[in-house]
Amino acid sequence: MNPVFRRLVLPLAIVSPLIASPAFGQSNAPAATVFVDVNVVPMDTERVLPHQTVLVVDGKIAAMGTHVDVPANARTIDGHGTMYLAPGLADMHTHAHTRRDMAVFLANGVTTILDMGNASNEFIAQVRPAIDKGRVPGPRVYAAFLVDGSPRYGNFVVTTPEEARAAVRLAKANGYEFIKLYTDLTPVCFDAVMDEARRQHMPVAGHGVTSVGLEKQMAAGQLLVAHTEEFMYTVFSQPPAGQDNRPPPVEEIPRVIESIRKTGAFVTADLNTYATIARQWGRPDVVTGFLKAPESRYVSPNDRIAWRDDGYVKRTGSLDGRVVFLARFTKAMADADVPLVAGTDAPSIPGLVSGMALHDDLQALAGAGLTSYQVLATATRTPGRMIAQNVPGTTPFGTIAVGNRADLVLVNKNPFVELGTLRQPAGVMANGQWYDRQALDRLQEQVATDYAQAVWTGGAKVWPGK
Ligand SMILES: [Zn+2]
Ligand SMILES: [Zn+2]
Repeated sequence: MNPVFRRLVLPLAIVSPLIASPAFGQSNAPAATVFVDVNVVPMDTERVLPHQTVLVVDGKIAAMGTHVDVPANARTIDGHGTMYLAPGLADMHTHAHTRRDMAVFLANGVTTILDMGNASNEFIAQVRPAIDKGRVPGPRVYAAFLVDGSPRYGNFVVTTPEEARAAVRLAKANGYEFIKLYTDLTPVCFDAVMDEARRQHMPVAGHGVTSVGLEKQMAAGQLLVAHTEEFMYTVFSQPPAGQDNRPPPVEEIPRVIESIRKTGAFVTADLNTYATIARQWGRPDVVTGFLKAPESRYVSPNDRIAWRDDGYVKRTGSLDGRVVFLARFTKAMADADVPLVAGTDAPSIPGLVSGMALHDDLQALAGAGLTSYQVLATATRTPGRMIAQNVPGTTPFGTIAVGNRADLVLVNKNPFVELGTLRQPAGVMANGQWYDRQALDRLQEQVATDYAQAVWTGGAKVWPGK
């Protein structure tokens, strides 16, 4: 999204003893789980494998087929020949840093997230390992450390190559996997970040850097362009003065796609994010509607306040032409095999609820004309490939295959035919831990209950306990 209008929200770190309790994590789970008579959507190619048995041992897929030897003590989950087992979903652009957000992701079938900046090192150092050990329910978290060249967006700033290199090394030392570039870096700092990131084996993601431009950034090795709309700011030709919201000419799309393809860069296909910004552009009533919607019960009180105070509603003009343009650009990228990953920016943009926003993004991609396989790939196989190829020591995910992390969603219908079935999984397995629908509902409703207990005191909304 346009950095000028960007707000970054730092939610309070909140610890819930209820969410951390074993009742939700089912920590007494057996070591082996077997799915029987399921239709597997492996996402290696566009196919469905009927009547499969999938064995999960110690958090990984141990065997799959029509004849599989199963340990006697394995827990059995029966798909009755009618249910579908797909890879867990990935949201590759989030700004959610609390245990409660993690629970809501999981309840919505999201088993991997890429945090795109401003996660605290408390979250990275304490919450993330607790999720990995199965003590806190949540997705696998990958995190980017954000570096910028000016303080105007409230970001971490580097002003010299030495500082830039040090920032990359500090990010590595603190457990972040990615570096996220931001808009105001200087060219020398950009070069230093790219060089040091290469030395430290840290992939680089992020915005267009105004002083460099995305074409040069991708050629220099930037792995992921966060936000499809970033191409409008540094690659497509600029709108005439006074027509800031005008979409770029569609005739330029092939040239821009060629420049992406030459570099192999990944792109975050965040169509619904931009469309949601467009909907609230100059429209306070739209944000009021977001705050009244039932899903906002899963948005923390401090995020709700940030939504209420956000500045898009004060903008003028319309972004609608750009929304249409981005849909066309995204479909053209998908057809040209530009690797696209789904991303939402939840919950930092008003209206985008963690977990649920990913399904809205997938729906927006389908609306842009992507095939259901192209759509599903953005939240499964493509994020899995991007991480496996660029983050050392990752257990593969994003496809259903022997040896992969057991991140799975069990759904009632064929997601190639009915994408919406993914919104209400019958169960979710994250890193081998199984949550049936009841457990997922309990998790999510506990979050809403906790948020409802926040009270107004002395003009500020505070928590009754910690
Ligand atoms: Zn961003
Ligand atoms: Zn973001």
